[in-house]
Amino acid sequence: MGKVLGIIGGGQLGMMLTEAAKKFSDEISQVIVLDPTKDCPASKVGAKQIVADFKDKNAIVELASKCDILTYEIESGDSDVLRSIESKVSINPSPDTLKKIQDKLTQKKFLSENGLPVSDFTEISSLKDLNEKVEKFGFPCLLKTRRDAYDGRGNFKINSADEICKAFQLFEGRAMMLEKFVDFRMEVSVIAARNTLGKIATYPLVENIHEDNILKITIAPARVSASIAQKAEEVAKKTMEVLQGAGVFGIEMFVTKDDKILINEIAPRVHNSGHHTLQSSKTSQFEQHLRAILGLELGSTELLYNTVMYNILGPKNFKGRFKPIKIEPDEDVFLKMYKKNESKPNRKMGHINIIDSKNTGDVEALLNKIKSIKKSIHFIPV
Ligand code: AMP
Repeated sequence: MGKVLGIIGGGQLGMMLTEAAKKFSDEISQVIVLDPTKDCPASKVGAKQIVADFKDKNAIVELASKCDILTYEIESGDSDVLRSIESKVSINPSPDTLKKIQDKLTQKKFLSENGLPVSDFTEISSLKDLNEKVEKFGFPCLLKTRRDAYDGRGNFKINSADEICKAFQLFEGRAMMLEKFVDFRMEVSVIAARNTLGKIATYPLVENIHEDNILKITIAPARVSASIAQKAEEVAKKTMEVLQGAGVFGIEMFVTKDDKILINEIAPRVHNSGHHTLQSSKTSQFEQHLRAILGLELGSTELLYNTVMYNILGPKNFKGRFKPIKIEPDEDVFLKMYKKNESKPNRKMGHINIIDSKNTGDVEALLNKIKSIKKSIHFIPV
């Protein structure tokens, strides 16, 4: 008899986890997601849905009462509520791991105390404190909200003294931290998995290109030397060893201009920069996450094809329903739309994976292919 899998969050990540669960029909009999948006993406591929906020205590308890194993695709669930129901349902990654990660300051402290490389950071308690610490760090530096911030939404880059007050006012009332600005050469990430038996597997290092703080393109593998890739993969493995959580994690890092690796942040969940694995690898990150939390052997993380992933974001000047997106058929191009009813500016609506099926090694050709495909993507209102 299969288990019922509960997922906090039913967006595109929950949708792709629900799709991956179909492969495990012996182990998983049903998926139930908790998501505030009625008819969320996961519900459109067979998951049952509880419509409620991610932090709604009663809804989390209801979800837990209906499932055997619980996971999440968003880190904003209430970790204290999860901790209180841990004896009733198996939760992975554990609420303790989630709690450590949810607060960016606690996360950075944890990483640095465990000898992992991060840029200089400090807590901010008042405007006076910010003024003093900015003086120590120098310009530019980044003021960040510690919680519930993603896609750069809780970050403010302070470039000069006259921006300090404005930055503080923007986040007033929220817990804040300050970070030294890293003048990085490249942003990279490793998708890593740890199963409940403690086995760890990492996918090869990928390169991430952001626009307006939102991931736009992932290049697998990253265009770095073998020694940098090895260094980053070692940092990712060590992170997984100290974190102790089971599941898939996205470990975002910077490669500095002098080839150092610094961890930016960790996502305790399947990650946008791992979407390429749907086509590039034998085991997708979604399947890997399920393997990890079900206590199964982890699958192969070998990169079968160089792949470029392109995020389809909602156009900046359009909001509403739209006609199905179509692209020219091509056996190396895989379009995945997230079944969202409405487009909004910069909303993640889908992605495209382009594989180098003939293993030519020509990444530029894949990037050029994206340039021409993206011209043919149009959001036409209905
Ligand atoms: P975050 O939401 O904190 O991951 O930040 C979003 C983006 O802001 C990252 O992908 C980086 O491009 C940039 N960023 C974050 N922290 C730093 C930093 N300390 N130095 C330079 N850029 C940063």
